[in-house]
Amino acid sequence: MHVKPAAENQTGGWEGFRSFKVAKKVQESEIITSFYLLPDDGQPIASYEPGQYISIKIQPEAQSFTQIRQYSLSDAPGKPYYRISVKRERGVLERPDGVISTYLHDHIVEGSQVELSSPAGDFTLNTEDKRPVVLLSGGVGITPMISMLNTLVDLNDNRPITFLHASPNGLSHAFRDHVNSLAERNSTLKTYFCYTKPAASDRESEHFHKEGYMDAMWLRQVINELDATYYLCGSVSFMRSVYTELQALGVATDNICYEFFGPKASLSPSPESD
Ligand SMILES: Cc1cc2nc3c(=O)[nH]c(=O)nc-3n(C[C@H](O)[C@H](O)[C@H](O)COP(=O)(O)OP(=O)(O)OC[C@H]3O[C@@H](n4cnc5c(N)ncnc54)[C@H](O)[C@@H]3O)c2cc1C
Repeated sequence: MHVKPAAENQTGGWEGFRSFKVAKKVQESEIITSFYLLPDDGQPIASYEPGQYISIKIQPEAQSFTQIRQYSLSDAPGKPYYRISVKRERGVLERPDGVISTYLHDHIVEGSQVELSSPAGDFTLNTEDKRPVVLLSGGVGITPMISMLNTLVDLNDNRPITFLHASPNGLSHAFRDHVNSLAERNSTLKTYFCYTKPAASDRESEHFHKEGYMDAMWLRQVINELDATYYLCGSVSFMRSVYTELQALGVATDNICYEFFGPKASLSPSPESD
């Protein structure tokens, strides 16, 4: 994995794992919950670049071993806490529930202790690049995008920002009200939501802008300036599809940055599904 140097050498940074307490647990959607994490020692925490992640070390009571998972930081840097937002990975048929995401949802409460690594990762917002930014996410891939979006809004540098998010429906869609409220206050921010299985309530309240997948024709309609920097995160099938559609629009692959929430895969079209 190609990773930038971790934040362990800067003020508030640390090596290995450090103890944090869950200060607040907030349900963001039917399946995504945020955890606000404060260091137990009360000392400063390292800053990070929007898009980076921490590793969390947990030993669920029912497991013999400690387990480590990565979670993107989902708020802008510069806060006294780290926030992660975790999707509950439900088992289907033979496939069991995800161990750590389920444990976080069901057993980690306000006051619980967890061990965290310093922030790391090379999928980061380039704040020096003044071109328009397009943030594209599917499902829980929204987490690094919210960190980037909050940072861009704080920068307030008039750069056009397009925030595009795909979700099955309004129930699983996290941070919708937050993103909408940012768009109401920022004329440079345009937001569009794509639902594959909208509920009747989504139709009534007009929560989404497109039904189905993000395709090249729709992307061309909602992205004003194609000469932009694109940040992409979601399932492999989502990223593969959007990457292909962007290329069909003539977007250079050098302008597309992306993050996998699992083993790296190719984004070239392939008959295999993820
Ligand atoms: C850089 C990075 C950032 C990430 N950021 C986020 C984030 O912000 N939010 C987030 O929610 N996740 C994020 N992830 C994913 C996260 O790290 C975990 O992979 C995810 O939460 C699942 O962990 P788990 O322990 O719940 O599932 P695991 O127990 O690891 O299982 C993973 C999946 O495999 C299936 N599975 C387990 N055992 C079997 C089996 N024997 N046969 C078949 N299938 C099986 C499970 O059903 C589950 O769907 C990120 C990952 C990376 C690499």
